[in-house]
Amino acid sequence: MNVRCPNCKNSFSLSRDYMSTAVAEAKDKKQKYHAMSCPSCRKTVKVSISQMQRYLPRQQASGKEQQSSGDAG
Ligand SMILES: [Zn+2]
Repeated sequence: MNVRCPNCKNSFSLSRDYMSTAVAEAKDKKQKYHAMSCPSCRKTVKVSISQMQRYLPRQQASGKEQQSSGDAG
């Protein structure tokens, strides 16, 4: 998913792996945002947890796997 830094307007992409960890950590701390530093300007950028979750597969043990093709957006 792409994140845009409000400070330098640079956009960068987050990997699923990264988001998965970030969401887990935020949930643990009951935070609604994940704070990370912008790779460009090193300023703190807040990324909405709910936004990240939309890009992650549901963490359910059972259920059919749906094929998601391509990236829309
Ligand atoms: Zn920045």
